[in-house]
Amino acid sequence: MPELPEVETTRRLIAPLLVGRRVRELRTTRDSYFFVTPTRELRRGIEGEEFAALERRGKYLVATLGSGSRLVIHLGMTGQLFSSRASSVRLLSATARASLAPEEQVVFEPDLHTHLHFIFEDAGPDVYMRDVRKFGKVLLLAPGQTHPRLARLGGDALGVTGEILFAATRKRKTSIKALLLDQSVLAGVGNIYADEALYQSAVRPARRAARITRKECVAIADGLRRVLLRSIETGGSSISDYVSPDGEDGGYQDERRVYGRAGEDCIECGDVIRRKLVAQRSTHYCPTCQS
Ligand SMILES: [Zn+2]
Repeated sequence: MPELPEVETTRRLIAPLLVGRRVRELRTTRDSYFFVTPTRELRRGIEGEEFAALERRGKYLVATLGSGSRLVIHLGMTGQLFSSRASSVRLLSATARASLAPEEQVVFEPDLHTHLHFIFEDAGPDVYMRDVRKFGKVLLLAPGQTHPRLARLGGDALGVTGEILFAATRKRKTSIKALLLDQSVLAGVGNIYADEALYQSAVRPARRAARITRKECVAIADGLRRVLLRSIETGGSSISDYVSPDGEDGGYQDERRVYGRAGEDCIECGDVIRRKLVAQRSTHYCPTCQS
């Protein structure tokens, strides 16, 4: 699932392909729950408009148009935003993939999962949004209009400090893991980065948030920023169907210390990494390094 680093990586790579370009035509798939704004309205609001900016709020991408309207995109579980210059075997169906030599590169042709297809007035590349499982969301906000999905987001996880986290944890009966995943507390923290940050700060995920000390909150905040920034640096984790816009796969999965490593040895102490359900999410930790 794309998390903050993947969304930020996508934003950095896709922004030059959108900003300053005027949309000649927007092609969409049929109306569905994917389109919070009906497709007709979406096309009417976007065609002929120029993209002025592409920003990120938590895991949402927010594209501002010349009209002041904002196009909000959530990548969901399998959403991909990329240009017609991208080429990656991950974009192909399993059958098509099976017939390819691993080194073979292919040019993407829009398919039934390509819900947005931007064609610009200039001769540059088209931009696609593709989402196989359709957990993504697309909506268009009129100038000045807000949306509960954005309004309820907490501060961005990249800007978290120990003090912010300490204040947020007081009187909370929930676990620290659940608190980190709560998007109204911190926008953008997902399962992988919560587990990795808690490992780096030596705090067990199931600990009650209110019992975490100020010093530990500083360590968790530092850990979060470190894993998020490192992941942005390496182009985001590339698990499941995530593909960065230029078709390159992310590299952070090689650096994970606990997430997805249940049963393997802890890199620090050699104890076995455990997995259990915390906050209804699969959670990974070292019973020796974290207390
Ligand atoms: Zn350990």
